[in-house]
This record gives sequence, structure tokens and C-alpha cells, in this order.
Amino acid sequence: MSLPPYQLRYSSKRRTLQLQIKAGQLRVAAPVGLSLRQIEDFIREKAGWIERHLSVPEPLVPDWLTQQQLPYLGRHLQLKIVTDTLNAWTLEGDTLWLQLSSRNKAENQRRWMQQLVQQFYANEAELWFGHSAARFANAMGVQYQRIRSGDFKRKWGSCSSKGDLQFNWRLMMAPEWICTYVLVHELAHLRHMNHSADFWQLVSQFNADAKPARAWLRQNQHWMQLD
Ligand SMILES: [Zn+2]
Repeated sequence: MSLPPYQLRYSSKRRTLQLQIKAGQLRVAAPVGLSLRQIEDFIREKAGWIERHLSVPEPLVPDWLTQQQLPYLGRHLQLKIVTDTLNAWTLEGDTLWLQLSSRNKAENQRRWMQQLVQQFYANEAELWFGHSAARFANAMGVQYQRIRSGDFKRKWGSCSSKGDLQFNWRLMMAPEWICTYVLVHELAHLRHMNHSADFWQLVSQFNADAKPARAWLRQNQHWMQLD
């Protein structure tokens, strides 16, 4: 077996060899004094383990539009498409109907679907966050101006110094407890415009899920999209 490329680090604290795979790279920690030959023999011995762990596939991103299933606040909506005279969406129970205009060019059809589904999520986000904010702001003793949905690539929400709040429409693809955490997080910024200990203290007073919710978002953000 040819050796995979690896990063070697000697440590005076180590008694044994340790292999680790991080960001698709093999790292070796070795006790001082071990020869390169001993280290490489060890790597050869562990070839099976290394190969299994180096070839873990990237997380799969579902293609929601093709599957015609949309994640929505912890459940799934069925997507149904009909040809019509205009482009529009309608929610009926657990079905999201997309009307696609017969005048759309065939090559633009998918873009129209993306646009309509995004409009739907953005609309729901304004309703959900608008409705829930009133309740929490009261309890937290803060006041906001406007609630809107936002199309952000790298953040879930924002809070301006004027008290305008924005929430990423992609949050409507997450369960409600995640949305609730992001809501409380942004409302807490109305009192603390930073991420200080006082800020987190206020968040935890009104939401016990901050830690698991942040972990959930890190683990699931890759499929919260329509591309
Ligand atoms: Zn923040």
C-alpha cells in the first residue's frame, strides 16, 4: 500500500501514536523519539481504518424541487405543479401548489419554481416571526419596529439599531424550536447589540435551546436551500 499524505506532529507528552482525520486530512501525533519507519509501519497497519474514514462522502443535499417535497417548520409539504396563465403559489393544507405560466420558457421553468417557493417561504417567515415576536417582545420587555424576511447567505437574522428585525426565509425549512431560538436571539439584540455574557444571559432566560439550536443549524444548514 502506498502511504496516504499525512501531517506529522511530535509531542513530548505522548506515549502512543495517534491517528486523526480532520477536514479530509490524515494527522499523526507521535511520541518524541519514534522513528519515521515505526510511524509508517503503524500507518500501514491502520490502512483499512484510514481508507474508511478518508472516503466518507460529503453530506447529501436533497433536491427539494425535484423530489416535490418541501421541509416546512418540522413537517413536509407536497409540491404540486400546474400549468396556468400566470406564475403564482397557493398553500392548501399540506400541499403547495405552483402555477407556472405556459408562456415561461422551458429553460426558465426551474428558476420560476425556485422563485415562487422562495416567495412562499419569505411570506411564511414574515407571518411566523411577526406573530411570534409580539408575544416574546412583550415578555422580554423590548420593542421592535418592523419584521421582515431576508435573503441572507450567511446569517439567520439581523437587528438594526432602529429596531428593524429581519429573518432568513430559509428558517421556515427548520423546525419551530429553531425559529424560536433565532427570534429570541434577535430580540435580545434590542437590549444588547453584541454577543456579550449579558446578551447570552438574556437569551437563556427566554430560550433554553440556544446551544442545541446553534448546533442544529450548523449541522443542517447545508440542505436549507433551493439551489
Ligand atoms: Zn447575534
